[in-house]
Amino acid sequence: MQLNYIANASIPSTSGRTIPVIDPSDGLPFDELQRSNAQDIDTAVHAARQCLDAVWSKLSAAERGRLLMRLSAKVAEHAEELAAIEQRDCGKPTKQAKADALALVRYFEFYAGACDKLHGETIPYQDGYSVLTWREPHGVTGHIIPWNYPMQIFGRSVGGALAAGNVCVVKPAEDACLSLIRVAQLAAEVGFPAGAINIVTGYGHEVGDALARHEGIDHISFTGSPKVGTLIQQVAAERHCPVTLELGGKSPQILFADADLDAAIPMVINAIVQNAGQTCSAGSRLLVDQAIYEPLLERLGQAFENLRVGPATLDLDVGPLIRASQQQRVWDFLSDAQVANIPMVAQGQIVDEAPETGYYQAPTLLRDVPVTHRLAQEEVFGPVLAAMSFRDEDHAVELANATQFGLVAGIWTRDGARQFRMAKRVKSGQVFINNYGAGGGVELPFGGVKSSGYGREKGFEALYGFTTLKTVAIRHG
Ligand code: NAD
Repeated sequence: MQLNYIANASIPSTSGRTIPVIDPSDGLPFDELQRSNAQDIDTAVHAARQCLDAVWSKLSAAERGRLLMRLSAKVAEHAEELAAIEQRDCGKPTKQAKADALALVRYFEFYAGACDKLHGETIPYQDGYSVLTWREPHGVTGHIIPWNYPMQIFGRSVGGALAAGNVCVVKPAEDACLSLIRVAQLAAEVGFPAGAINIVTGYGHEVGDALARHEGIDHISFTGSPKVGTLIQQVAAERHCPVTLELGGKSPQILFADADLDAAIPMVINAIVQNAGQTCSAGSRLLVDQAIYEPLLERLGQAFENLRVGPATLDLDVGPLIRASQQQRVWDFLSDAQVANIPMVAQGQIVDEAPETGYYQAPTLLRDVPVTHRLAQEEVFGPVLAAMSFRDEDHAVELANATQFGLVAGIWTRDGARQFRMAKRVKSGQVFINNYGAGGGVELPFGGVKSSGYGREKGFEALYGFTTLKTVAIRHG
C-alpha cells in the first residue's frame, strides 16, 4: 500500500479510500495508492509553509545546492530501483525507464549547480538613487504532473522550484506516481527538511483541483492536457496565482529532398514510438518534400514493419499504452482514419508474449492525411505517424503551422540558409535541425507557444519562472 509523503512522513489519506495501481503490461492491479482529498492537500500546504518559514528560507543558496547535489547522487545510487518502479507503473521498456531515472539524476545535478548563480541586477538610474532587483521565490509551489514521464517532469519542475528557493506540494498522476513517492523518501534520507517536498496522490478532479484552488499555493506548474490546462488557468485566475503550463503538441518532422535520410529515418521513428507515442513532444506529423515522398514512405514502411511491441520487461521497441481508455482513444483515431479512407502504409507487430489483458498498440504509419483531419490536428498520444507531402518551402511552413499547437519542430535539410529560414518561420517553442530532441538535455529550456502552453521549464530559464522579481530603489541621503 502506497501512502502520501508529507513532512517526511508516510501517511494515509483522511479519506480512507484508495486507488488500484495497474501494470499496463498485463492490465492487472499490483498495489494501491491513496485517493486523497482537499484536507490532505491542506495538510501538505501547511507543512510546506512551515518548512519555508522555519528552515528553507534560512538556508543559503549554496546550502540548497548541496542538498540537491546529495539528492542527485542518491537517485544515481537508486537508479535501477527507480527505473524498475517506473517500468511497472508506466509500462516503459527497460531502456526508457533507465534513461528517465538518469535524467532525474541530471536534473537535480543541474539545478544544484544553478542555485547560487541566480541573481538580480543593478540598474543605472537618476542621480541620487541606487536601483537593484532581487529574484525571490514564489513560496509554496504546486506541481501537477502527468503519467507519461513522472520522474523527468518531477526533475525539471520540482528541481527548478527547489533551486529557486521554493518548497513543493506535488500531485502526481493517478496512473503513475510510485517513483515520485520513493524519490521524496530519498530526499528525506539525504537531509531535505520536513515539508520541502510533499507528495499527495489521487484523482485530478479531486486532489489536483484542490491543490490549484488552495490559497496557500503561490505558483502552479502544470504539465498535462490542454483541456485540464485551461481549467487550471481558470481556477488560478480567480486568485491571480501565476501558472506555468506545459501542454500538448502535434509536432511536425519536416523532411526536405536534400535531407540525410539515413540519419533522419531512425530519429523520425524514435520520435513517434518512444514511450509508445505518449510524449508531448512526439513527432506525430511527417511533412515530406513531394520529390522524395514515395521512396521515403517505402523505407519508413519497412522500418515500421520491423518494430516489435510487447511487455515492458522484454525491452522491445515499444511497450504498452498506459491504460485501457488510452488504448481505446488510439483505436478511435485509427477507425476514423479508415472511415476517411486514409491509407495505412505499415504497422509494427505485437509479440506473442504480450498478454491479451495488456494495453498494446502496434506503431502505425498513415499517409496522405488531410491537413484538416483530426489525425493531423489532435494529439493521438499513441504510436501513430501521420504523413503528408509538401510542394515547396512555403507550403511546408503553412502545413507545419496549421495546428493549434506549437511545441516542437524537427527540420531536416543540408541547406544552411533554409535551416535558418525554417527555424524562424515555424511557430514552435523548440526547433531541432537535423536531429529531434537533441538528446533531451536538461540544460535546454522547454515549453510551447499557442495551445502548447507558456512559461519554460528545464535549463536556467526555468528559474525565472519559479521566482518573482522585486525592484528595490534606494534614494541616498
Ligand atoms: P491530464 O491533463 O489528464 O492529467 C495531468 C495531470 O492533471 C494529472 O496529474 C491529473 O490527475 C491532473 N488533473 C486532471 N484533471 C484535473 C483537474 N480538474 N484539476 C487539477 N488537476 C487535474 O493529462 P494526461 O492524460 O495525464 O497527460 C497527457 C497530456 O499531457 C498530453 O496532452 C501531453 O501532451 C501532455 N504533456 C505535456 C508535456 C509538456 O511538457 N508540454 C509533457 C508531458 C505531457
